[in-house]
Amino acid sequence: MQFASMSVDQIQQGLKAGDFSAVEVAESSIARVQAADAAVHAFLEVTPELALEAARKVDQAIAAGNLSQCGPLAGVPVAFKDNMNLKGTHTTCSSRMLESYVSPYTATCVERVLQAGALPLGKLNMDEFAFGSTTESSAFGPTCNPWDLGRVPGGSSGGSAAAVAAGMATVTLGSDTGGSIRQPGSFCGVVAVKPTYGVVSRYGVVAFGSSLDQVGPFARNVRDAAVTLNALAGRDPLDCTSQNVTTDFTANLEQGVEGMRIGVVPEFMDAEGLSAEVKDKINEALGKLEAMGAQLVEVELPNVHSAISAYYVIAPCEAFSNLARFDSVRYGYCEPGHKDLGGQYENSRSGGFGEEARRRIMLGSYLLSAGVYEKYYYPAQQVRTLITRDYQRAYEKVDCILAPAAPRTAFKFGEISEPAEMYLSDMYTISINIAGNGGMSMPIGLGAETGMPVGAQLITPAFKDQNMLRVAAALEQVYGEAPVAPAFANGKVGE
Ligand code: GLN
Repeated sequence: MQFASMSVDQIQQGLKAGDFSAVEVAESSIARVQAADAAVHAFLEVTPELALEAARKVDQAIAAGNLSQCGPLAGVPVAFKDNMNLKGTHTTCSSRMLESYVSPYTATCVERVLQAGALPLGKLNMDEFAFGSTTESSAFGPTCNPWDLGRVPGGSSGGSAAAVAAGMATVTLGSDTGGSIRQPGSFCGVVAVKPTYGVVSRYGVVAFGSSLDQVGPFARNVRDAAVTLNALAGRDPLDCTSQNVTTDFTANLEQGVEGMRIGVVPEFMDAEGLSAEVKDKINEALGKLEAMGAQLVEVELPNVHSAISAYYVIAPCEAFSNLARFDSVRYGYCEPGHKDLGGQYENSRSGGFGEEARRRIMLGSYLLSAGVYEKYYYPAQQVRTLITRDYQRAYEKVDCILAPAAPRTAFKFGEISEPAEMYLSDMYTISINIAGNGGMSMPIGLGAETGMPVGAQLITPAFKDQNMLRVAAALEQVYGEAPVAPAFANGKVGE
């Protein structure tokens, strides 16, 4: 049985009915990863012992007649982006800097998913320290897009998106600072949710941009994502920015969109760089929502065009500060051959960090230096306020905005090498992190030109994440659940 291609509901029903055991799910899912990941390279570490240990607990609870006590993700195969600590596993952030780092503790987001009964299959590939949009900057080699192995899966949570798209896990977790959940979700054709900043604890997730980072789930259907979000959400005393969220994210998935006001943003739809095939699919999705009774309302976001510029000031500054801890003394790679402490820092940081990480560190260091700070960092924060207000004004008129998740479908490896061009692949996602709103990518079929998945991005006011999930569930009625990529369907392994 292809357990990792099943939904949360299907797995739980099978367990309840005694059709299979959680240990069978764990064993078969690990074997599936070992077979299919040769082609995809989504996993950096596979954790059979942990999966089996969790599975045995689920089976014991079932034997004692307590499946309900195992939690809402009991027996569900999951995996985590490699910037999330899971005690006893490597947490490398796909960097040489942390190649030999073993987590002494577990991140809250990981802990909550495991508390809910999930079976941890392992850790997933990403762009180094989550800098990037393709996973090409991983020090351990890129992940391939299961829909076309010659194309990128997106990034930085490329491994998380690809693992779900290739039927290697039912649910995975990723993190999103400027688009790193939604953009790979759209490239790999899976449901990908970046909750409102503060819904999920960041404790134990290696920080990139602390005011922007947020953890969220990937799944092949909206309900699985919502169930996972229920497990993830809520106050954590270990992250002072986490909020006391008690929303049931599954509550209104069946309500439909009748009477909902969906925002359409001309600045997004007419932007230069939006490919015709993505635009066509987005317009089609808008039409479907209208046909289901939603009202389409045009809203303006006049400052949103400055989001990328503001982000590439704020994010590198925060990254520079967060990455200072990797000094080769307390943490990280230590390059031999230095003469003194200064030399140790210099050699180790030059040798441990890849090109994009070094670029961001240097940029952040420059932007925060005296004289420069006032010129860039301060205005970037002012732009941040303007963009946040733009969204607040728009939400006086609409319940949810629909936009592309990315300007085009997944591109071929090596096709984009210019950093500035790469940065544009997040042109639709970055402003949402800047404003702190919730956003998600929902698969709406394949582009007419490339035949690759297209994602519609749904954006909601802060702490109204249930709105976007409700619209996504309506789109799912039309477009169906996200399929496993054809070359990996029914147990195939990518040949
Ligand atoms: N691609 C963007 C960047 O490189 C966003 C990354 C992310 O969300 N982690 O910064």
